[in-house]
Amino acid sequence: MTQLLTPGDRSRRPAAAAEAAGPLVQTLPPGEVFAALDTSPRGLAATDAVARRDRCGPNELPRARRRRVWRQLAAQFRDLFAIVLLVASAITFLIYALQQPRDVGTFRLAVAILGVVVLNASIGFAQEYSAERTAQSLQAMVPHTCRVLRDGERQEMPARELVPGDVVVLEAGDAVSADCRLVEAHEASVNNAALTGESDAVGRSGDPVAAGPLLEARNCVFMGTDVIAGSAKAVVFATGAATEFGRIFRLAAAAPRQKTPLQLQVASMARRVAGAALAIGAVLFAVRVPAGQPFVATFVFALGVMVALVPEGLPATLSVSLAIGVRRMARRHALVKKLLAVEALGSTTVVCTDKTGTLTQAEMTVTRVWAGGESHAVSGVGYAPVGEVSDRLSVRELLRVAGLCGNARLLPPPSDAGRYPHSGRGGWRVLGDTTEGALLVAAAKAGLDLAAEEAAAPRVGEHPFDSVRKLMSTVHGAPDGDTYCAYVKGAPQELLARCTGIDWKGERRPLTEELRAEVVATNDELASRGLRVLAAARRPVTGPGCTQDEAESGLTLLGLIGMLDPPRPEVSDAVDACRNAGIRIVMVTGDHPLTAEAVARRVGIVRQTAPTVVTGTRLDALDDNALDGVLAEPTELLLCRVSPEHKMRVVTAFQRRGEVVAVTGDGANDAPALKHADIGVAMGASGTDVAREAAVMVLLDDSFASIAAAVRLGRSVYQNIRKFLIYLFSHNIAELVPILAATFAGFPLVPITAVQILAIDLGSDVLPALALGAEPPEPDVMDRPPRSRRERLFSATVLGRTLFLGGIQALGVCVVFFWHIHASGIPYSHFTEDNAVYREAITMVQAGIVVSQFFNALAVRTDRQSVFRIGLLSNPWLLAAGCFGIGLMAAISYLPVLQTVFHTAPLAAADWAVLTAFGVLLLAAEETRKWWLRRHRPVRPVGRKGGER
Ligand code: ATP
Repeated sequence: MTQLLTPGDRSRRPAAAAEAAGPLVQTLPPGEVFAALDTSPRGLAATDAVARRDRCGPNELPRARRRRVWRQLAAQFRDLFAIVLLVASAITFLIYALQQPRDVGTFRLAVAILGVVVLNASIGFAQEYSAERTAQSLQAMVPHTCRVLRDGERQEMPARELVPGDVVVLEAGDAVSADCRLVEAHEASVNNAALTGESDAVGRSGDPVAAGPLLEARNCVFMGTDVIAGSAKAVVFATGAATEFGRIFRLAAAAPRQKTPLQLQVASMARRVAGAALAIGAVLFAVRVPAGQPFVATFVFALGVMVALVPEGLPATLSVSLAIGVRRMARRHALVKKLLAVEALGSTTVVCTDKTGTLTQAEMTVTRVWAGGESHAVSGVGYAPVGEVSDRLSVRELLRVAGLCGNARLLPPPSDAGRYPHSGRGGWRVLGDTTEGALLVAAAKAGLDLAAEEAAAPRVGEHPFDSVRKLMSTVHGAPDGDTYCAYVKGAPQELLARCTGIDWKGERRPLTEELRAEVVATNDELASRGLRVLAAARRPVTGPGCTQDEAESGLTLLGLIGMLDPPRPEVSDAVDACRNAGIRIVMVTGDHPLTAEAVARRVGIVRQTAPTVVTGTRLDALDDNALDGVLAEPTELLLCRVSPEHKMRVVTAFQRRGEVVAVTGDGANDAPALKHADIGVAMGASGTDVAREAAVMVLLDDSFASIAAAVRLGRSVYQNIRKFLIYLFSHNIAELVPILAATFAGFPLVPITAVQILAIDLGSDVLPALALGAEPPEPDVMDRPPRSRRERLFSATVLGRTLFLGGIQALGVCVVFFWHIHASGIPYSHFTEDNAVYREAITMVQAGIVVSQFFNALAVRTDRQSVFRIGLLSNPWLLAAGCFGIGLMAAISYLPVLQTVFHTAPLAAADWAVLTAFGVLLLAAEETRKWWLRRHRPVRPVGRKGGER
């Protein structure tokens, strides 16, 4: 192995030493690169690769150092609420220290406030810690593979296995996994934004360049960048931390976590409520002191009430519920990369979906071949090359050319076939494009040995496929080495426009209008059966370096190939669910309109007799106003023969109309549409790295059904957040109203003490709220229209429900309190803190709130449905949390040590029975309200007729 240098080495060594050590990788001609890196055009031998892997380590960057645990914990105390509470606790401690005589109640309050701060910090810490772990494990689920030549065989393997000397094959959409020197490039260009910040595409070639900065060498590609067009072959010269990316970003910090609009909304609401709590505390103080209450005691009490009303646990509960949503979506194969997607999913109104792979299985099988005016059937299903072509001879040239003009490989069933979830029937797999894979299978069924054909006509050039021109061409030499031929395949319309002749049973005929019409009619006939149709053609060219224009004009058409791609069985139900949920589904495909319509009918996207079909050409002719008009029409919509640029335009147009758009994409040039959409959805199994980077959600199984599942979960996350908001705020009303009532009724003491309120917060707030955040989706969650993006979280409905439930609770506790006081016959002015009746009454108030919160938690579980329909016991966490709260209350009521702390008294069985009756009453009232709602305000059936919501 020649001593080879990269400028990275050079910068670390004295210049003279560098010169003496050997040439720079970018200055060598392609043929010498292999020798210099001690490898060959066949790639490394497997044993050599293992040895190099042991020597160089895995191709990974060192992980960014995680924040120390104590720092993470300390950060929790820097939160606004924590600071407010800490200050309140400090003031209370101070008052206790200065009091003469000291009141142990003040001390308890200070400790209780501190307890609330610690509990919240612990929850916040646990949530952040687990969110980080979840993010890491989710990240590991996104496949990061690369194509490598080892022992002359092309294979796909995890990018971390790459070693210097590996020969990699790069295609548009691939992320570059190591620093590589190109030895072959076909119209390749890369985006170096991650390294240079420059996001324009820069062309690459395999030719040697003069010595200079490595990053400027046009024959090198670097880890962390993306191939955005063309294809290339390259030799790895640096991996892991030794790459340019590794040098620059060695200790790359984790991306800052952004707050979603929902989190911001909740945070601002929590701040406002905290402001209101402070105001209420101040008012209580201002009213009670002139009424003759002791100054210090009233101040301490008002402080306690303020603290109790501050919704300090709210942001943490929100984050937990979003995190639960993300985990649930991952279980349904939808990997959310940004929390933003969780809430946007709930208000999605339009899904623009690809066809191949998302609605269909992407398991292409050629079923018909047309050549020389005759149509032939091909038998067999899937990628196993087992089947027959009805007339092998007449389709031989068509399948030979189509088979050689491609980069896919057919892999026989591996011995451990179970490891490959995307393998086709019989375990045969396609490495690369599935359309091209189907052509290889068809060629094999026609008895062609493509390896021998390739040897006889070796490929010397390539113009890669792109979805704008919808064509691909390769240039092949003949055995004599003097003549060259271009083989072209692609969408029939595009190819036909570039053909001047047609192969008619071995002889070239001019492509007359009649023959052209016959080809078009055959194409339409195949497409209307739902087949993807490809045409193939060829022509002699001047040499290996012929231009794309030369290779793809003046062609002789060889025939048409129709391939079947069966719909995914789970998609029809998912399409129905989306229709019910008022979500419009628009198919966006590069395929022929008739193919698109046939598939759309099969999966239920099209049911009308005449859907609106807009082709790429028509889209080009429409200005923005006209396009808006088309999208506004209440019909089923198919966008066919479109390019990624069209997709982007349609997404923007939908957004202009106020729609919330989810769009799927797999190719490198889908990235702008994926970024621009409200929810960019990339394919995990078949998509490109570039698309996955641009998207906010990745479908691990590529299926449309997973989008529908994610929408359902996204909606339920939002609903759950509302549930615990109602739950939390309604009990605040139940705490506050008796205090105000007692104040205004002239009762000298408080009906519930600040320490009691804090105990309720600790025992009955946080855990049930967390359990509500984990509620499974309600059965009718997909029967409602999408939530408007403008809708506020704390809407009039939520406020109304909070007042309704909180009002009933407040009424209940006021009744039990004053009933106790009045039944004793003791005048107000004779009550002291140690009075047994008073202690019983305040115990009743505290227990009343705790018990009614148990029933309240059950009541808020559904919006409209009866809670009995989803099953009273179906959220065991909620029941456990409720029982914990009641258990704690019982301990406060019966344990002498806690009785002293809380000034409580033991309640009789009859007292609990009364409180339970109030709880049942609350549930009954809420059930009646829901029944009334179902009866008088039925949900408008939202299933869009056609395209309409
Ligand atoms: P879909 O919605 O089915 O996923 P798409 O939008 O991804 O379609 P493209 O892959 O861009 O469509 O293909 C557009 C057209 O180009 C196809 O209908 C087909 O005729 C042709 N085509 C697809 N793949 C190739 C290929 N590898 N080589 C040549 N032509 C191809």
